[in-house]
Amino acid sequence: MTKKTDKRNIKKEKISRVAMSEQDPEKRKKNFNEVALGYTEEDALREASRCLQCKNPECIKGCPVEIDIKGFIKLIQEKKFNDALEKIRERNSLPAICGRVCPQEDQCEKVCILGIKDDPVAIGRLERYAADRELKRKAQRLKECALSEITKRCTREKIAIIGSGPGGLTCGAELAKLGYRVTIFEALHEPGGVLVYGIPEFRLPKEIVKREIDYVKSLEVKIEVNMVMGKILTLDDLFSEGFKAVFISTGAGLPYFMGIPGENLNGVYSANEYLTRSNLMKAYKFPRCDTPIIRGDKVAVVGGGNVAMDSARVAKRLGAKHVYLIYRRSEEEMPARNEEIEHAREEGIDFKLLVNPVEIIGKDGWVHKIMCIKMKLGEPDDSGRRRPLPVEGSEFDIEIDVVVMAIGQGPNPLLTSTVPRLELIGRGNIKADPVTGKTNIEGVFAGGDIVTGAATVILAMGAGKSAAAAIDEYIRTGIW
Ligand SMILES: Cc1cc2nc3c(=O)[nH]c(=O)nc-3n(C[C@H](O)[C@H](O)[C@H](O)COP(=O)(O)OP(=O)(O)OC[C@H]3O[C@@H](n4cnc5c(N)ncnc54)[C@H](O)[C@@H]3O)c2cc1C
Ligand code: SF4
Repeated sequence: MTKKTDKRNIKKEKISRVAMSEQDPEKRKKNFNEVALGYTEEDALREASRCLQCKNPECIKGCPVEIDIKGFIKLIQEKKFNDALEKIRERNSLPAICGRVCPQEDQCEKVCILGIKDDPVAIGRLERYAADRELKRKAQRLKECALSEITKRCTREKIAIIGSGPGGLTCGAELAKLGYRVTIFEALHEPGGVLVYGIPEFRLPKEIVKREIDYVKSLEVKIEVNMVMGKILTLDDLFSEGFKAVFISTGAGLPYFMGIPGENLNGVYSANEYLTRSNLMKAYKFPRCDTPIIRGDKVAVVGGGNVAMDSARVAKRLGAKHVYLIYRRSEEEMPARNEEIEHAREEGIDFKLLVNPVEIIGKDGWVHKIMCIKMKLGEPDDSGRRRPLPVEGSEFDIEIDVVVMAIGQGPNPLLTSTVPRLELIGRGNIKADPVTGKTNIEGVFAGGDIVTGAATVILAMGAGKSAAAAIDEYIRTGIW
């Protein structure tokens, strides 16, 4: 176990940002246990004591679901840990998950007033502490707490939600608290979306996700799994069955490939398939779970986002001797969270920056080498990042036996392809009002990655939350 000091060394001991314990890199690269170990009570109290309790706290504005951050930190300062969690839960139904995977450095912590002269308050770590502490309480207490949140309005209209990722779960929880009868339909055999099939165990333990989902279920939200909507039931079927509104949150689960020669060779995976086999289908628990996955001694992961970082770190833990992370821009442009980049480096991932694959070369139908070209950065493109340009004649080969393509995902077309009258934009995203989630079909709302394209957990949750308010208004007023 290691405990790092944060970058800036503040003179006064009492105001130093409290670091979080982590598993030692040498040990953790061989196991799937959680890397970051969380705060102790003493750590949490020390960190909470740094909060200035600002008159006009910027942190709340920086949070996409506007958690009363100042309020919950005050409650932690007063050791009212359960109240702190209730305060968070007023705006966020999945705090143990958000405390782990939200990019706080770009949101609440980025605008924290303490951060102007010092390290910002570790808001995410405190959120995680409050949530983890509660997870240790008895399940019965959890249920009582949850049920007490359901208002007495009890309209009890039926609402359907398609997709059980953070967007669907949040929308379901919010509607249940308002007294609606909610059913979430999920295509996979386990609820949670990317939280269960994408983000690996060592970053987000599935036990944590399960307990957060148990909280949502305890609000009397029904979750039906193995329901590929559009195929088993259509949107029209749902309305015929008495559902008064539908929220679609089917995510961005369609993997993209580069379109280069050799992508159909054995040993080439999309990150989506690779991570699903490892996480949801538990290939990492071999021999207890006999899910096939090609492990490989030398693995190349292509991409620079969280998905690429997760794939590379999974490959290492599955036993690869050498894992290359191939990214066509420089580290500065990498979309992955800084913490994930740092963790990947510590675990020995070999970053090949300003490099792009041009062909995967096979031998007897299996991956053998990847041919790459060196890149340089030109002028900024539409994304604001500098455009990568190939350096002519700089091609070179790397010997490998597995390639994981992690260059992005598009909207999942399973449901939308069965509703031709539903208006789509871009690469097949649902066109929906950014505030209410209303689509062009009355009673049908949408939010999360299926609308925005691949984004973040908290943005999907924010969309679920605001759609729940809009659904409530629609049901009460009947006005579309
Ligand atoms: C590997 C990986 C790592 C990530 N890391 C982070 C991170 O660290 N921090 C962060 O904030 N974000 C991260 N993200 C992004 C984040 O997970 C997503 O933005 C978020 O999960 C989107 O939520 P959602 O509810 O819109 O969809 P999803 O989580 O994709 O859930 C959609 C659900 O809908 C189901 N579904 C699809 N079609 C149907 C159908 N026809 N019928 C029934 N069900 C259907 C799917 O099976 C899925 O369960 C990561 C993503 C990936 C892939
Ligand atoms: S802005 Fe920072 S210091 Fe001020 S209340 Fe929020 S967390 Fe505390």
